[in-house]
Amino acid sequence: MAATKSPQGILFVVSAPSGAGKTSLVRALLEGDADLQLSVSYTTRARRSGEIDGQHYHFVDQDTFEQMVAADAFVEYARVFGNAYGTAAATLRETLDGGQDLLLEIDWQGARQVRQRFPESVSVFIVPPSLSALDARLRGRGQDSDAVIRERMDKARDELSHWSEYQYLVVNDRFDQALSELRSIVTAERLRTAQQAARLREPLRSMLES
Ligand code: 5GP
Repeated sequence: MAATKSPQGILFVVSAPSGAGKTSLVRALLEGDADLQLSVSYTTRARRSGEIDGQHYHFVDQDTFEQMVAADAFVEYARVFGNAYGTAAATLRETLDGGQDLLLEIDWQGARQVRQRFPESVSVFIVPPSLSALDARLRGRGQDSDAVIRERMDKARDELSHWSEYQYLVVNDRFDQALSELRSIVTAERLRTAQQAARLREPLRSMLES
C-alpha cells in the first residue's frame, strides 16, 4: 500500500529515577529506530567526563539559560539537583513538523509541563525493580560521592512518587524485556488511527472509491 509520511511526529516523554537505567534503554531504543529522534536539552550543570557538548546536552551558563527562559525559548524547564534543565521549543517544533517522532528524556516536573502544553504527547515512566537495585546501580556507576548518592536516592523516591501521572509504566528488571516493551509502546502509538489517518488517507480513499 502506498503511504505518505505523517505530517506531524509523535512526542514521547520518558522519565525515571536516576539509576533506573533510562539512558541505556533510550539509547538502545533510538539505535534501532531511524524515525525517532532524541531531544538534546540545555543545562547549566557541569559537563561530566565523556559528555559531548551538543550531543549529550547543550551546556550553557546560568545567564544564557535565564535569557532563554525570558525569550520563551523553552517548552519546559526545571531545576533538578540544583541545576537548570530545559527543552528548546525550536528543535521540538522542527522535528515534529518534519514528521519525525521526538523523545524527551526529562524529569517529572518537565513531563508535567509538556503534558499540559501537548496533551497528545505520550508519557512513559521507567520503574526500577527495587530501591536497593537503584542504590546498587548508582554506586556501580562510580561517578558520585556517598553524599550525592544519598541525595540521588531521596530524589529517586520523589521522582517515583509521580508514577501515576504517566500513561505507561515499564519496569526495568530485565533490560531486553524493558526495551521490547518500550518498542511496543512506540509501535502502538504509531498505529493509532489518528496517526495512521495522515499516512493512509489517500490509499484508503482510493480503496473505498474503487
Ligand atoms: P543528569 O544530570 O543526570 O543528566 O540528569 C538529571 C535529571 O534531569 C534526569 O532526571 C533527567 O531526565 C533530567 N533532565 C534532563 N534534561 C532535562 C530537561 O530538558 N528538562 C527537564 N525537566 N529535566 C531534564
